[in-house]
Amino acid sequence: MEQDTTQPTGPARYPGAATVEDFARNIAAVRARMTAAAERAGRDAARVRLLPVSKTVPEERLRLAVRAGCDVLGENKVQEAKRKAENLADLDVSWSVIGHLQTNKARFVAAFASEFQALDSLRVAEALDRRLQAEGRGLDVFVQVNTSAEESKYGLPPEEVAAFLARLPQYGALRVKGLMTLALFTDDADRVRECFVTLRTIRDQARQDAPDGIGLDELSMGMSGDYEIAIEEGATVVRVGQAIFGARPTTDAKYWPGS
Ligand SMILES: *Cc1c(COP(=O)(O)O)cnc(C)c1O
Repeated sequence: MEQDTTQPTGPARYPGAATVEDFARNIAAVRARMTAAAERAGRDAARVRLLPVSKTVPEERLRLAVRAGCDVLGENKVQEAKRKAENLADLDVSWSVIGHLQTNKARFVAAFASEFQALDSLRVAEALDRRLQAEGRGLDVFVQVNTSAEESKYGLPPEEVAAFLARLPQYGALRVKGLMTLALFTDDADRVRECFVTLRTIRDQARQDAPDGIGLDELSMGMSGDYEIAIEEGATVVRVGQAIFGARPTTDAKYWPGS
C-alpha cells in the first residue's frame, strides 16, 4: 500500500503539548490518521483503540492529557507507572504496562494495572496470577512476540507462541486478549510491515488450536512512527507516545535494550 510521504520527519513531526488544547489537537490528528489508515484497509476504525504512551512525561502534563480525553495511559517501566498511578490516584485513569516485567515486580503490576501487554514467560504469568488471586483482581494480558528476530528484543520467538498459550488457562486471573509486538527499528517501511504481517499470521495460526478462554482478537502493534502501517495490517491497539506528547528528548535505550 502507498505510504504518505508528506509527513515531516525529525522533531517537527512530533509537536509538543503544553496545554489541554495542544493535547486535544495532537490526539485529533492521530485519530484522523488512524481513521484514514483503517479506511484504506477496508477496516472499521472503531475497532482500533488508541493507547497513549506517557513514559517520561511528568504528572502535571499527564493531568492535561487526561483532561483532553485520555482515560488509559501506557507506561513501559513498572516503577514509573506505579509512581504516576499513586500521584494521579485522584483522576479517573487506568494504567497499561507495556514493557518487560521482572518476576519480582509482578506484585506492583497486580496492584494497580488494568492491562499488561508484555507477557513472555510462565514465571511472570505465575507471579502475576498469584498476586492477582490474593488481591481478588483480574488483569487483561497480551503475549509479546519477537517478530523482528532481533536478539535484543523481548518477547517469545514465533515458534513458541502456541505452546505458551496452551499453558495460560491455569492462570485464572489473567484474561488473555491477544498478541503484542514491536516492529524492527528501521525507516524501511516494507521491513516494518513484515513484522506486523508476521504477528497477524501467528495469531491466525494460534487461533486454530488455542484453548478455551484464551482470546486472540487483539493485536497490539504500531507506535508513533508506524501505527498507520500497523492498522493496515490488522492492529486493534496502537501504542502512541511521541505523536501525542511530543518528541522524547531522551534516548530510548533505557526502555528498549539495544536501541
Ligand atoms: C514508548 C513505547 C511506545 C510508543 O513509542 P512512541 O515512539 O512514543 O510512539 C510503544 N510501545 C512500547 C512498548 C513503548 O515502550
